[in-house]
Amino acid sequence: MTIQTERGTVGEVLLDLRDVIPPSRLLTDPAQLATYECDGLAAYRVTPGLVVLADDADEIAATVAACARHGVPFVARGSGTGLSGGALPHAEGVLVVTSRLRTIHEVRPEDQRAVVDTGVINLQVTKAASPLGYYFAPDPSSQQICSIGGNVAENSGGAHCLKYGFTSNHVLSLEVVTPDGEQVTLGTEAPDAPGYDLVGAFVGSEGTLGVATRATVRLTRLPEEVRTILAGFETTDQAGAATSAIIASGIVPAAIEIMDALAIEAAEKAVSCGYPEGAGAVLVVELDGPAQEVEHEYAAVERICLEEGSFEFRMATDAAERAEIWKGRKSAFAAVGRISPDYIVQDGVVPRTALPTVLRRMGEISRERGVRVANVFHAGDGNLHPLVLFDAAEEGATERAEEVSGMIIDLCIEHGGSITGEHGVGADKAKYMPRMFEDDDLDTMQLLRCAFDPAGIANPGKIYPTPRLCGERPRVVRGAHPLTDHEGVDLF
Ligand SMILES: Cc1cc2nc3c(=O)[nH]c(=O)nc-3n(C[C@H](O)[C@H](O)[C@H](O)COP(=O)(O)OP(=O)(O)OC[C@H]3O[C@@H](n4cnc5c(N)ncnc54)[C@H](O)[C@@H]3O)c2cc1C
Repeated sequence: MTIQTERGTVGEVLLDLRDVIPPSRLLTDPAQLATYECDGLAAYRVTPGLVVLADDADEIAATVAACARHGVPFVARGSGTGLSGGALPHAEGVLVVTSRLRTIHEVRPEDQRAVVDTGVINLQVTKAASPLGYYFAPDPSSQQICSIGGNVAENSGGAHCLKYGFTSNHVLSLEVVTPDGEQVTLGTEAPDAPGYDLVGAFVGSEGTLGVATRATVRLTRLPEEVRTILAGFETTDQAGAATSAIIASGIVPAAIEIMDALAIEAAEKAVSCGYPEGAGAVLVVELDGPAQEVEHEYAAVERICLEEGSFEFRMATDAAERAEIWKGRKSAFAAVGRISPDYIVQDGVVPRTALPTVLRRMGEISRERGVRVANVFHAGDGNLHPLVLFDAAEEGATERAEEVSGMIIDLCIEHGGSITGEHGVGADKAKYMPRMFEDDDLDTMQLLRCAFDPAGIANPGKIYPTPRLCGERPRVVRGAHPLTDHEGVDLF
């Protein structure tokens, strides 16, 4: 393939697409473009050059092929709920929106598979499968709106990923439009395909390896019994100790979530979820599986929570009470707006055993800097979501919040964790990548990216801190690539 080195314009792409896609789905009107200027991280805004509302994989392939012909960047976008600016548009590029690709092609209980378009909403897969006794296990809190393509690109997690694994554990094969516009299939429906795990490489690649158009996903059997428990503690230390003791006893709950006092206050203000009064922390534990096993585990969890100091322990007795318990947890991010005008949703992960130390240090940092931090996290897998609160109207508050946010990330790395638990790197955290990886590590990752996208047009500026065009080989290959001296080559 010839690598396009001259950057063309979206106008040229538009001309190519005029005969392929109706004008009503090629958006160029500034008012319409403005709708797409950010994803769930509204702090960054870029108006795209062109938005393509594709109807099917062929239209996506035609769009990407036109981008490749003219060397124009493109960004895939599902529902735009990402929290790290992964779907932030490129000003001189094309935003390829998948949300019209909403067909659930097959639900096959006999082999626990579903074949879906990537614009399909996460929860719709479960809704289609549950009458047959199955569901789609990865359940981000945004599951009512986020797309399967976004889940794949972010390797999204959720409350139930402790027991059932992240999206990567539930994707068998993908139909993908590569950055040169070719349509390919990665993986097979059989679980163990020979050769490199290209599905594994694509999952979590944040739109830098192409656009997924269809996915074959694994379905999980609905459990015979589900018990949702709410336990109130005076401190997060106690709730953390209960979490560790539950896991150490050999129980793997479907979910264990912790919320601290600030997060509880916010959730109560927003949705009146009725969490225990005066709690410094609550634990939401969900047990699922065969009824007898759940009964046995429930007794053990109750004993452990009481031993670790829980002053209120209750179980949902029906679906409505279960929803009530989850409502507080699931609304926590948005609810924080009730107690602070501005906040940064941070996302890091540490080994579960490091949680108490990391939380204590986070508390110290928060006090030292005078910046409040609310905590909501998937305790079971050490996935933290500190919400750093500030008031942008206050002199220097934004900078202080950003500093605290960065210190939390450093803390995660220091304790053997990572700069992102499940929200991706995107545009937001690219700057943190060198805190975690050596140049050689980053270069090695870029080599994989270059194999898919030699022209560097797929979601440029995301994940990697150093702006490199893939024609410019990473350091692993010594010597400057000729393209670096090529006039007119923009490195983005
Ligand atoms: C209130 C709230 C709660 C959230 N809770 C969670 C949570 O519990 N767990 C969690 O993991 N995340 C969570 N998120 C983050 C977000 O919802 C997930 O990352 C989700 O998977 C993004 O899906 P999307 O369709 O909105 O993707 P978008 O935001 O549109 O895109 C996200 C990334 O995927 C790429 N992309 C999108 N579609 C495709 C495609 N078809 N092919 C290739 N690349 C593509 C984009 O380029 C971008 O890099 C939450 C977000 C919000 C707002």
